[in-house]
Amino acid sequence: MQTQDYQALDRQHHLHPFTDFKSLGEEGTRVITHADGVYIYDSQGNQILDGMAGLWCVNLGYGRQELVDAATEQMQQLPYYNNFFKTTHPPAVKLAAKLSELAPEHINHVFFTGSGSESNDTVLRMVRRYWALKGKPGKQWIISRENGYHGSTVAGMSLGGMAPMHDQGGPCVPGIAHTCQPYWFGEGRDMSQEAFGKQCAQALEDQILALGEDNVAAFIAEPVQGAGGAIIPPDSYWPAVQEVLAKYDILLIADEVICGFGRLGEWFGSNHYGLKPDLMPIAKGLSSGYLPIGAVLVGDRVADTLIEDGGEFFHGFTYSGHPVCAAVALKNLELLESERVVEKVRDDLGPYLAKRWQALAEHPLVGEARSLGLIGALELVANKRTGERFDKALSAGNVCRDFCFENGLVMRSVGDTMVISPPLIITHSEIDELVSKARLALDKTAEALA
Ligand code: PLP
Repeated sequence: MQTQDYQALDRQHHLHPFTDFKSLGEEGTRVITHADGVYIYDSQGNQILDGMAGLWCVNLGYGRQELVDAATEQMQQLPYYNNFFKTTHPPAVKLAAKLSELAPEHINHVFFTGSGSESNDTVLRMVRRYWALKGKPGKQWIISRENGYHGSTVAGMSLGGMAPMHDQGGPCVPGIAHTCQPYWFGEGRDMSQEAFGKQCAQALEDQILALGEDNVAAFIAEPVQGAGGAIIPPDSYWPAVQEVLAKYDILLIADEVICGFGRLGEWFGSNHYGLKPDLMPIAKGLSSGYLPIGAVLVGDRVADTLIEDGGEFFHGFTYSGHPVCAAVALKNLELLESERVVEKVRDDLGPYLAKRWQALAEHPLVGEARSLGLIGALELVANKRTGERFDKALSAGNVCRDFCFENGLVMRSVGDTMVISPPLIITHSEIDELVSKARLALDKTAEALA
């Protein structure tokens, strides 16, 4: 089949996620056929540097034969069995133990799911169940953040703070409130980063008091907001938030779906910020995206109560701890560890990217360049001096994203924030390539919007 055949068939039958079906049908899709290292290739032979690691997930990069072999061997040995009704299998046992070893000290239990969204559905049920078992059934509210992303299932999108998602498909899950996001460039530039971080923590406390401290079960947040635009909170934010949560005995759910497995230069984003979460939903980098698998890492406080007092937990998925996915995840963790990928992000690649990325802050179109580990963002502005944004109708971010693609680079646009999250095995020269392609796209965008 040729590119146009794929496109025609795709148009006829395929409804794409997060897509305007009609306009995609008119424009046609790019057909990705294979990949290797940090590069993807399309059906027309173009080589494209994948600055997003797929959807923030291909941490080990493409083409790892060890992961293929792990899947093949497990397929032959035991392609499927479940963990319901008093059964288990070696890959699930070993993976739960490995994750407990890698997680912070106080986390020693794992509940498997098939995705990040399912992980967040699971935490919602777990925290409410936890408080009911503690004799505090009134503690039902979960506070999340505006513009946070926690998935696309009904619970995931309700926990998330993406207004356009809330507007589609009927009412959200009740008992979820949203507080402000620590997005200094977008919402706090009239004060210092430090003051803004503290103000966001104060807003959380105000919300807790408005709902009633005895009614709030948990606060859920990504250590660094990913889909919302690679929002790196001010240094003052997390310490102040943790203080507030401790004051009112509210559980912390750190959504590690993007930050986990090395993205910030630590095994988990929580390690970077010194957080002590009660629950950590994970997915994506757990298998480097090679197969779908997620989990909730459950801290001792919640796990002990669910185990000792909970009786049967009526919750689980057909593919919870799927043996082939678990075997691939296990091998992925082994490779991340033996190749010291996480340490390299922290000590070498993260600082190198930061230096190169920061140079883009000089560009006339860039209001801010920020990065941490291997996640980064550029804020596009119409007026560099005042920081004034482009008229929304111009879709500056999408214009820039399209120039990137044309130019052999995947960079994502979130409004007018350009985001990168490349595979963690990227080299210095590939970072140089990424940055110079980003610069070229910025130049072309500036020209197009002039
Ligand atoms: N949580 C976060 C922080 C995410 O970024 C995502 C996906 O991007 C999810 C949850 C949902 O994960 P999934 O798409 O695997 O359901």
